Amino acid sequence: MGETIFSKIIHKEIPAQIVFENDEVLAFNDINPKAPVHVLIIPKITEIETTRDIDPKKHAALLGALYEAANKIAKDLGVSETGFRLVLNCGPDAGQDVYHLHMHLLGGRKMNWPPG
Ligand code: 5GP
Repeated sequence: MGETIFSKIIHKEIPAQIVFENDEVLAFNDINPKAPVHVLIIPKITEIETTRDIDPKKHAALLGALYEAANKIAKDLGVSETGFRLVLNCGPDAGQDVYHLHMHLLGGRKMNWPPG
């Protein structure tokens, strides 16, 4: 279920610049970065295609792990204090291209609001 390009990255079948990994979470640089820091943080399980598929009871610990990873990566990459943005695109209007839950961590430049 939910096999995408990110499954191949999880299984190391295609390369990625990995910045963080543990048993539950993988994080790697976006191939088409939109900011000096642009990391994708994903669960290793493939069953969550979008935010809509999150079951708070089943996935609470995993969500905690994703946010814990995000905060660590932001610190490690030097954007924790300057600020960063976490984005989860859900569905066509949001521009979601890859149907494997992922959090974009963007930082290293001043960002606009509202986003385009
Ligand atoms: P979405 O639009 O689904 O929220 O974001 C998908 C992101 O995945 C995009 O920012 C895109 O650049 C990135 N991406 C797509 N394919 C690859 C890939 O093969 N490797 C890496 N590192 N990033 C990818």
